[in-house]
Amino acid sequence: MMRYENLETCPFYQRKMSINYAAGSLYRRIYCEQDKTKCARYKVSSKLEKDKVPIDLYPNMQDRADKIFSEHT
Ligand code: SF4
Repeated sequence: MMRYENLETCPFYQRKMSINYAAGSLYRRIYCEQDKTKCARYKVSSKLEKDKVPIDLYPNMQDRADKIFSEHT
């Protein structure tokens, strides 16, 4: 399997966003390492621009991602 390129630069995957250890590990596994298309950060960065991704947007924040879309489309 090809390595997903955002892993090197994403602040969430690089542990630069505050989150407890268990949740961080779980999210990295289910979003970053299994299905990036379900990640709120990935959705915003792929449909809009990377600078539209708030620093405090976590992978599970689908409702917030939808709100960002509605504000920018
Ligand atoms: S899946 Fe989401 S949190 Fe994980 S590296 Fe990609 S953009 Fe970052």
